[in-house]
Amino acid sequence: LDSLNEKDPIVMSIIRGELQRQREHLELIASENFTSLAVLEAQGSILTNKYAEGLPYKRYYGGCEWVDKVEQIAIDRAKKIFGASHVNVQPHSGAQANFAVFLSLLNPGDKIMGMDLCHGGHLTHGSPVNFSGKWFQTCHYGVEMHNEQLNYDAILKLAQSEKPKLLICGYSAYPRTIDFEKFRIIADKVGAYLMADISHIAGLVASGHHSNPLPYCDVVTTTTHKTLRGPRGGLIMTNNIDLGKKFDKAVFPGTQGGPLEHVIAAKAVAFKEALDSDFKIYSGKVINNAKSLAEQLKKRDFRLVSDGTDNHLILIDTRSIRMSGKEADNLISTINITANKNTIPFDPESPFVTSGIRLGSPAMTTRGLGTEEFIEIGNIIADRLLNPEDEAVKQNCFHRVKTLCNKFPLYPDLNV
Ligand code: PLP
Repeated sequence: LDSLNEKDPIVMSIIRGELQRQREHLELIASENFTSLAVLEAQGSILTNKYAEGLPYKRYYGGCEWVDKVEQIAIDRAKKIFGASHVNVQPHSGAQANFAVFLSLLNPGDKIMGMDLCHGGHLTHGSPVNFSGKWFQTCHYGVEMHNEQLNYDAILKLAQSEKPKLLICGYSAYPRTIDFEKFRIIADKVGAYLMADISHIAGLVASGHHSNPLPYCDVVTTTTHKTLRGPRGGLIMTNNIDLGKKFDKAVFPGTQGGPLEHVIAAKAVAFKEALDSDFKIYSGKVINNAKSLAEQLKKRDFRLVSDGTDNHLILIDTRSIRMSGKEADNLISTINITANKNTIPFDPESPFVTSGIRLGSPAMTTRGLGTEEFIEIGNIIADRLLNPEDEAVKQNCFHRVKTLCNKFPLYPDLNV
């Protein structure tokens, strides 16, 4: 077989370019991470060739004896990590996992209640531009204006007046812990199913640094590629075996065809890593690093949404430096820092402009940076954003980013 380089040098050169970009930038996108080489190897394997509609040992295709094994291992490891009695590892992504859950539990026109997108919710939790907002009635809760945190009494009141069939907790941009038990009480009071989408915090849940929603929720969905540090993909988990069977059917044949067994193998590898004691240490560092970055930004007079963080992410209110999120994001990108502009609660700006940037610690913690380096990152960001017109400061910041990247090389053994 020809190598990629011989067969398609153009694609190869793009992959090389992206590797170089990843190596030379500080990756602060809260939803990104760097998988291990073992995960990459499994995902790049010949398992991609295999069709395997159905579930392990109950397939519609022949020749599944090896992929059955790998999918079963992925299921068993995910069950162990999250304490779930039923897991489906086939969703191609977090959005696909949520789609399958909705197909199982709801009929078009039923009402769902999740966090407002502008307050940190996800598109699949009822945004009008997503299937979840097009096919279902929606109502949204947000955070409180005074502390930018969840108010469970207010959520209960809204749930009592709206009577959703499905209540969703779990977010894309919420820097504080979630009390799943309180959500269970609310769901029970209004007779709603409770779903936690732990896409962002799955690694923190896996390592015990955030409480586990499984004991309280009818269903838990997640992506596998954020704090969990696996390949891109989704999972559906439950302790209700009858619902579990429904979710299986909603994934296939409900919303997907053949599972991606190469990705499932990579999920299995990532789950093995997540069960290792090193992962607990890693996740603890993710939180400590985010806290150090938050404290440093505050020292430099940046206002943070909810005044800090309990998890892996931080939201800067860029109005505190008289800038839009878009401007701030553009400025830090000039010194090789990658983040994303993000709406903040009660944001007066459009989602394209925004008044915030979201920063996260998972990826750079994987590269080995510790609290000292995250304090330096806080200073670099502050120096750049507080001196937007100063070319000498820009050059200095660029150099300091380069120094950090060189000190903590990414995939040093990977030659492509
Ligand atoms: N749910 C939440 C809370 C997310 O933050 C995301 C992704 O950002 C998703 C679902 C969707 O995941 P994916 O991009 O894999 O479809």
